Amino acid sequence: MNEQTAVKEAAPAQTRLPDAQTVTEVQHYTDRLFRFRVTRPQSLRFRSGEFVMIGLMGDPDPKTGRQKPLLRAYSIASPSWDEELEFYSIKVPDGPLTSKLQNIKVGDEIILRPKPVGTLVHDALLPGKRLWFFSTGTGIAPFASLIREPQTYEDYDEIILTHTCRDVAELKYGADLVESIKQDELLQELIGDGLNKLRYYPTTTREESPRMGRITELLKDGTVFSDLGIDGISKETDRAMVCGSIGLNNDLKEILEGYGLSEGANSEPAEYVVEKAFVG
Ligand SMILES: Cc1cc2nc3c(=O)[nH]c(=O)nc-3n(C[C@H](O)[C@H](O)[C@H](O)COP(=O)(O)OP(=O)(O)OC[C@H]3O[C@@H](n4cnc5c(N)ncnc54)[C@H](O)[C@@H]3O)c2cc1C
Repeated sequence: MNEQTAVKEAAPAQTRLPDAQTVTEVQHYTDRLFRFRVTRPQSLRFRSGEFVMIGLMGDPDPKTGRQKPLLRAYSIASPSWDEELEFYSIKVPDGPLTSKLQNIKVGDEIILRPKPVGTLVHDALLPGKRLWFFSTGTGIAPFASLIREPQTYEDYDEIILTHTCRDVAELKYGADLVESIKQDELLQELIGDGLNKLRYYPTTTREESPRMGRITELLKDGTVFSDLGIDGISKETDRAMVCGSIGLNNDLKEILEGYGLSEGANSEPAEYVVEKAFVG
């Protein structure tokens, strides 16, 4: 064996993940939530609010030793103009993907399938004056993208982001984001005075906080409207996007339909759109 072969054998060629992107930033909020950013494939175009499949290689098959990609749907939390991609993630203790994904560090690679899809997009709504973003938990992710999207402020006079979580610490990602975009020079340049149109309405359901309760209850008893100084929701002026658990989505659908709004889709825009924040 000559010297060259010996070196080759000692350092096997590094295997890159398929559709690999490199992690550029990781921030943990609680033992259940974290945010991370990755490089963006040059060819990837998406509409703010869409989701993609991301993941890691799964454990080797005990029989064959082969590894398959373990992929899950994730809303892109960054806007369509951003050079990188941001994701906001749950940590499910026994979750096949997130039990591993929560350990990623800057410089690691993840798999990202560059095929964005989704219904939480401006194209799926008819023109209106006021846009509501109703979210719970990680359901704020698509709205983190849309509240940094200039079109949101061009198309609407007022934008209301509601975010409901169990505890105050779970609201931090959204609270920091709203604060930071109001200070962000690039966004100021893109959106100008439009940022003043953004109103943030956080609530908690378990831990004591200035505003408590499920958003569905606060809508039904009119608290949201009196808090925000709004008459109510109407088909003529209001549009809504909803992202939460199946239970929340169904309850909000019923409430919005009660105000006379109907559900839209990419192929048939209407007054509100809904997407699951997770399955199960
Ligand atoms: C359209 C769509 C967009 C999504 N976007 C995001 C996102 O932006 N961020 C994100 O963290 N997840 C998102 N999810 C959920 C995501 O696809 C995975 O379910 C999640 O990453 C957990 O993966 P896992 O393999 O660890 O566990 P899984 O086996 O996928 O889930 C195990 C269980 O954990 C619970 N769970 C899963 N995801 C969540 C969640 N986000 N919040 C609360 N409970 C949950 C459910 O009860 C589920 O049955 C999205 C799902 C869909 C359908």
